[in-house]
Amino acid sequence: MNFLEEKILSDGTVKQGNILKIDNFLNHQIDIGIIRQIANELKRRFSGVDVNKVLTIEASGIAIATMVGNLYDVPVVFAKKSETANSTDDKYVSQAYSFTHKRMNSVFVSRPYLHPTDRVLIVDDFLADGQAVHALIDLVHQAGGEVVGIGIAVEKGQQKGGQLLREEGYRLESIAIIEDMDWQAQTIRFRKEKSSQL
Ligand code: 5GP
Repeated sequence: MNFLEEKILSDGTVKQGNILKIDNFLNHQIDIGIIRQIANELKRRFSGVDVNKVLTIEASGIAIATMVGNLYDVPVVFAKKSETANSTDDKYVSQAYSFTHKRMNSVFVSRPYLHPTDRVLIVDDFLADGQAVHALIDLVHQAGGEVVGIGIAVEKGQQKGGQLLREEGYRLESIAIIEDMDWQAQTIRFRKEKSSQL
């Protein structure tokens, strides 16, 4: 098991509805040591990839993205969520259904913060159905930029986001991939891939 899988097993709780709660190190309180390890591991996995911007979505992606941006020494942009935003001259807007809040959100980035010359590493805390990541990809493409990788802390492998993104040809790296979890038994099983054997 890698460091993140061990941390999830020791500190995470499984909620009804296929939700993993890891508030004490990522989604409410931030454990700087764990975030640093996540960032270092993503940088290692994307070694050789030329990145000039890191993009995430508010709120929980920001901590990881900032630490990753620090390692690359590049700007970090976070897409904002809004119930009402429309595309305008000053913003790129896309749509994402929120798995945790069960509603559509507009997500947007102001135009000055994404460019055609951008080689973007997308970073987020969770990947479930891939709605958030697909909205971020759309924003990069609207600006004419390129998505050079997608780095995720926790992928929920029983939801379709990871498979879709891999089929679409994106380079996706997830540090912990959950195969299945059970809220009644409080058990979590991780996918056995090279990612679990660091
Ligand atoms: P997706 O857009 O891939 O369907 O869902 C990813 C987003 O939903 C993440 O940005 C994260 O905020 C949230 N999310 C999805 N599943 C979980 C979960 O099990 N636990 C937590 N804490 N957030 C989740």
